Amino acid sequence: MEVAGLSLDGCHRLDELRAWHDACRKAPVAFDMTRGLPSDEQIALSHAMLSLPGPAPFDSGDGQDWLNYGGQQGIPQLRALLAPLLLGVPATQAAVGGNSSLALMHAAVGLAWRIGLPGHAPWSDAHEVRFLCPVPGYDRHFAICSDHGIALVPVPMGHDGPDMERVEKHVAQDPRIRGMWCVPRHSNPCGATYSAEVLRRLATMHAAAPDFTLFCDNAYAIHDFAPQALARPGLYDACATAGNPDRVLLFGSTSKMTIPGAGVALLGGSARIMDWWLAAQRACTIGPDKVNQVRHLRFFGNAAGVARHMQQHGHLLQQRFAQVQRVFAQRLRTPCDVHWSRPAGGYFITLWLPTGCARRVVSLASQAGVRLTPAGTTHCGGTDPEDRCLRIAPSRLPVADAARAAEIIAGCVLLACADAASVACDTTATAPDAHP
Ligand code: PLP
Repeated sequence: MEVAGLSLDGCHRLDELRAWHDACRKAPVAFDMTRGLPSDEQIALSHAMLSLPGPAPFDSGDGQDWLNYGGQQGIPQLRALLAPLLLGVPATQAAVGGNSSLALMHAAVGLAWRIGLPGHAPWSDAHEVRFLCPVPGYDRHFAICSDHGIALVPVPMGHDGPDMERVEKHVAQDPRIRGMWCVPRHSNPCGATYSAEVLRRLATMHAAAPDFTLFCDNAYAIHDFAPQALARPGLYDACATAGNPDRVLLFGSTSKMTIPGAGVALLGGSARIMDWWLAAQRACTIGPDKVNQVRHLRFFGNAAGVARHMQQHGHLLQQRFAQVQRVFAQRLRTPCDVHWSRPAGGYFITLWLPTGCARRVVSLASQAGVRLTPAGTTHCGGTDPEDRCLRIAPSRLPVADAARAAEIIAGCVLLACADAASVACDTTATAPDAHP
């Protein structure tokens, strides 16, 4: 395939790869892959929503007025539609409010910090509060913790969820661990979906802190590439079955279903958690934006409407991800120690490189005009100690550009690997013989 006028075909040796990269630098592309944004085509799927809610009625005939203050929990019809799909709870156990699930996560952590979780002392009373963070993970989760002075404890992510041996050990032994971030479906950035066994172990494990809470970010609950039966997300059910219904706080939004920044966000949990949350909201607002909620309700209609809409998103995402998978499979066969995730949904591919190469690849790609998420972003404190992990976000680019971007990334990986190998060779050649 042509890249900036120069093909990567047949480039194997270091000098060939350097020449290829020089040519790319002279004619850089302008691709931004720093964050998982929906493409213009995806957003166009929701353009019709912009002319909603349309004309009256502005109430549901049961005494609720959608054009006035009130309705703190959000309109019941939208909760009934989205809470089971996005959070796995009934309408009564969810609140719809605001446009951002991250804002709700930040507010919930802040509430636990200031007043404590139901029946428990505020976290601010403790000498130290810690959160388990599956790594590679989501930098904005880390930021919410850092903002509250909460220490981050990394645990490795596997293909079906976090390493549960380590999670169970930490949570059982360390009462300073009060929370854990979880993205159970198509996690950011690994794309992993937690197995039923991982959900069960999270729900049943012994916790040294009595208020240990799973902060469950269901950002990609129904964001599959290929059509799936919309199954109810399972972490709340697992916790309730284990007799720990208060262990989990659930979050979701329509940011990646309709219009990012103009969606609706949801928080859910047990009845006790909901009482706690709604009582605290009285000090914050007289009610949420119900007009946007009605807009969403009329746009989706029902669960079948949500499924149809998400199928179209999945198709558009699949086209871009397939290009990256194809190019990586073609170009990155040779270097050992290079592998990548093959998600079935969500917004990211994780690319693993030989130790010490990730930052170099980001820099080489940037010189060629492909902006990647900075290396280290996926790790607590912004530092990947092995400098191996990159988050690739193909969603926003047009399909042809996604292929071209992947080709440039692959070329930069080959160049960084060849560079590293040549440095290793030089060092070996010049190193004094330690074992004569
Ligand atoms: N959670 C995860 C895991 C995400 O990847 C993202 C966006 O990329 C968000 C939350 C953002 O959600 P919201 O727009 O509802 O704040």
